[in-house]
Amino acid sequence: MRDILAISAHPDDVELCVAGTLMKARDAGRTFAICDLTEGERGTRGTVETRRDETRRANDILGLSAGDRWNLGMPDGNIQINQENTLKVVRAIRHFRPKVLLFSWDNDRHPDHEDVNRLVRRAVFDSGLTMVETAWNGERQKPHRPERMYCFFHTYERTPDFVVDITEQIERKIQVIEAYGTQFTMPGREKDDNEPQTFISTPAFAESLLARMRHWGFMIGATYGEPFVTVHGPIKVNDLLDTV
Ligand SMILES: [Zn+2]
Repeated sequence: MRDILAISAHPDDVELCVAGTLMKARDAGRTFAICDLTEGERGTRGTVETRRDETRRANDILGLSAGDRWNLGMPDGNIQINQENTLKVVRAIRHFRPKVLLFSWDNDRHPDHEDVNRLVRRAVFDSGLTMVETAWNGERQKPHRPERMYCFFHTYERTPDFVVDITEQIERKIQVIEAYGTQFTMPGREKDDNEPQTFISTPAFAESLLARMRHWGFMIGATYGEPFVTVHGPIKVNDLLDTV
């Protein structure tokens, strides 16, 4: 059982969008797990093998062991909303039994990220149904639905419903992004390679990511922040001073 489960399409998605929030949760004694739906095998740069190595390096920085991160082996670029894939996600939700589920927002430049949203929402519904049977390690799994679901942004975004202050985690978040050396280049850390540049591999992409985290941090009176939208309406506040 984990407090938080984060699901997205490609290894590195969760790191880019919510690594700060997950590390902050860990710093506070919470537990989390990650599910990547694909291995990112259609990526222009790197190979499946190099990306696996990069994910292992990222896991070390995030403090995750092998059992904390699942790859569901769906084809990159072709995440079908079907029964087989729904059950794969149901199995993960029932295994990790998170209280909070984080996944991609439904409007993005990359179709896989939008498909994550549709597939995960379907799986969350099915995961709560007794009649939907799944097993893990030969044992039938019990139904489970997370109490709260929040979506994170990839390229497109809107005004978030809340922002998590990740100022204390930003240096480690940059390290975890740099673990994906074939995919990203932080400004000032340009390196020579013969691979073609992509939308995400130039320093301009990393600069824009840092600027967005700086912007949302500024908007909550912090330095860096990660934005979220809620899936099921407003969130409960018990003490107004918690929001200060
Ligand atoms: Zn992605």
